[in-house]
Amino acid sequence: MNKGEFLYEDKAKKIFYTDDPLLVLVEFKDDATAFDGVKKDRLEDKGILNNRLSALFFKLLEDNGIKTHYQKTVSEREMLVKALDIIPVEVIVRNIAAGSLSKRLGIPEKTELKKTVLEFSLKDDELHDPMINHYHIYALELARPEEMAEMEKTALRVNDILVPYLKERNIILVDFKLEFGRHQGEIVLGDEISPDTCRFWDSSSGEKMDKDRFRADMGGVIDAYREVLRRLEGGEGPAVEGKS
Ligand code: UDP
Repeated sequence: MNKGEFLYEDKAKKIFYTDDPLLVLVEFKDDATAFDGVKKDRLEDKGILNNRLSALFFKLLEDNGIKTHYQKTVSEREMLVKALDIIPVEVIVRNIAAGSLSKRLGIPEKTELKKTVLEFSLKDDELHDPMINHYHIYALELARPEEMAEMEKTALRVNDILVPYLKERNIILVDFKLEFGRHQGEIVLGDEISPDTCRFWDSSSGEKMDKDRFRADMGGVIDAYREVLRRLEGGEGPAVEGKS
C-alpha cells in the first residue's frame, strides 16, 4: 500500500491518499491542543501511543462485531483505514459527570450518572463544536434518522464493550467522543479512540490518565498515556520507551 498525496490534517492527525480510493492512511502527530486550539504543545511520542491505543480499541471493537474504519497498522505512527464520508456530528457518551457536563449542569465532577448519557455536537471548530439535538441534525441534514439510530446504538454498544474491558485493567471509562462516517452504504466508526478523546481515571486512586492532564497543566501526560497502553497490552514494558 503506497502512501499517496496529502489529503488534509486536523489537530492531531494527517490524512494521506493511498493507491486504493477506498482507503486512506492516518498519521498520528505529537501535537496536542486544547480549548479549540488556544493551548498548544508537542508531546513527544503521543502520536505513537495514540496509534497503538486506537488500533487496540478498534481491534477489540471489531472482534465484538462493531464496524470500524481500522484496516491495519502500517508503522509506529500510521494506520490504514477505510475512507469515510465523515458525518459532522460528534457523539459523546458519558458514564460519570466531568468536563463540560459538570459545568453546564452544575453537577460535581465524579457524580455517577444513573443512566448513560448521549450528547451530540456539531463538528465545527470555528463554532466551538456547539451541542445540537436531533431536530438540528435533521433540519441541517447532517444525518438521516436511520443513520442516527445506528450511531446511537453503536455508541452505547461501544460503551458496553469498553467499560468492563477497562475496568478489568483498573481504569474507569468516564466519558468519550466518537465520530462516524459513511463507507459504501454503511455507517462505520472512524477517527480515533485514545486518551485524547476519552476520560480515563485510575480505578484505585482516581488519578486522571488522559488529556485532562494536558488541559489542566498537571504534567505527566505522556507517562499517563504510556501507563494506559501498558495496562491494555498487558505484560511488562511496552516497546514505546520513556524518554524523560
Ligand atoms: N471530546 C473530544 N473532542 C471534543 C470534545 C470532547 O474528544 O472536541 C471528548 C473529551 O475528551 C471527553 C468527552 O469527549 O472525553 C466529553 O468532553 P466534554 O464535553 O466534557 O468537553 P471538554 O470538557 O473536553 O471540553
